[in-house]
Amino acid sequence: MFYCADCGKELINKDTIKAVADMFRKQGVGKWWDTDASEILPQGTKCECGCTKFTKEKDIMDVWFDSGSSHAAVCEDREDMTYPPDMYLEGNDQYRGWFQSSLLTSVATTGKAPYNTVITHGMIQDGEGKKMSKSKGNSIAPQEIVDQYGADVLRLWVISADYRTDMRMSQDALKQLSEGYRKIRNTARYILSNINDFNPDKDMVSYEDMTELDKWALMKLNQLVEKTIAAYENFEFHTIYGVMLNFCIVEMSNFYLDVLKSRLYTEKPTSQVRRSAQSAMFIILDSMVKLLAPVLAFTCEEIWKYMPHYESDDTVSVMLGDMPKVNELWNNKELEDKWNKLIDVRNDVNKALEPARNEKLIGKSLDADVTIYAKGEILELLKSINEKELAELFITSKAAVKDGEAPDAAVAGDVSKVLVEVDKNEKCGRCWIHSETVGTIAGFDGICADCVKKLTE
Ligand SMILES: [Zn+2]
Ligand SMILES: [Zn+2]
Repeated sequence: MFYCADCGKELINKDTIKAVADMFRKQGVGKWWDTDASEILPQGTKCECGCTKFTKEKDIMDVWFDSGSSHAAVCEDREDMTYPPDMYLEGNDQYRGWFQSSLLTSVATTGKAPYNTVITHGMIQDGEGKKMSKSKGNSIAPQEIVDQYGADVLRLWVISADYRTDMRMSQDALKQLSEGYRKIRNTARYILSNINDFNPDKDMVSYEDMTELDKWALMKLNQLVEKTIAAYENFEFHTIYGVMLNFCIVEMSNFYLDVLKSRLYTEKPTSQVRRSAQSAMFIILDSMVKLLAPVLAFTCEEIWKYMPHYESDDTVSVMLGDMPKVNELWNNKELEDKWNKLIDVRNDVNKALEPARNEKLIGKSLDADVTIYAKGEILELLKSINEKELAELFITSKAAVKDGEAPDAAVAGDVSKVLVEVDKNEKCGRCWIHSETVGTIAGFDGICADCVKKLTE
């Protein structure tokens, strides 16, 4: 808007607006400040009083109108952008601000909302729920977190916090989060160290030929993929951290990778069972890094550089890969039910081993033999599996299954009773299993018969 320099009457009409708009379009909005009114207005512009000199208005009409019309000025106008834009993202103080003024101007000019989706977030508070402020000294600068824990942990905090309400941030929470980060990283590192001789093009074992435990792991991976993709799509990022952490700790470290150890360390490197485990681990790691790449960008890129890939894959960067998809072939309700029961029994065994370990009767679980007393369907299930495989699952030297009354020394668990006995046989120097066959084969001192078989195959 302009004002007459003489009588002060305001000047604003179609011609003056067009003149200003043309100037903005060509020279940018900043031009307003260093251009004289006479250079902007059409030649011959005159006030009612006859004066031809004008001054410019220097106040902003409405800051919300300015920002609220950006969908038109920015998105409608540029070829590389679309109208309406996919998403408006701002703090929850913008309902009466930017979201509102954008909606009003867009509905007025086009009849529709200026965005497909609106995401709002709460504010960051300190550990006690107080507003962060520099003067109170309770704020944590992002750079401090990056310096201490790395950028990936800061990003992990961002997704782990439920942004839909106000979020609390404290040094304690960050420390805890960095431990969670380490668990995820260590899971990846363990898998990496066990697939370094694995070439997916040559060594991949087809799903049908995999061991049941490896099939179980892929089924759990399916569930991880399904939950994580759904969380991304619904902008429920905070669930990603919990789901991934649970997968790494409960399903991978505490169970799957733990049980795999003997297979990975004692089987012949090229044996079908070891390749089966490697195939599953490769698929799991490949999916994990792709799922986490948007969050743990640096960590995932680093893992990607060190892991094997299919030759046909574009391996330049994990960022170029597509998100993994659920593989229907791997879903198996029957298998899940069966293994849920086996995991229950395994938990009973672990519970029974604990006192023996505390009393220093055993060191590692391999120093013990266990006898499981069960009934009904648990007994049926255990009887259907050979005792060697059960011992492998429990990571004990021997495992037996018995019907009937358990002796008093047995420890009652959730689904069974478990008797723990120390295995007095000599420990095999290779697989660490106690066995009466250790040293019985000439030329193989201190080695059990099973290991000799694997070594001489
Ligand atoms: Zn005038
Ligand atoms: Zn052995």
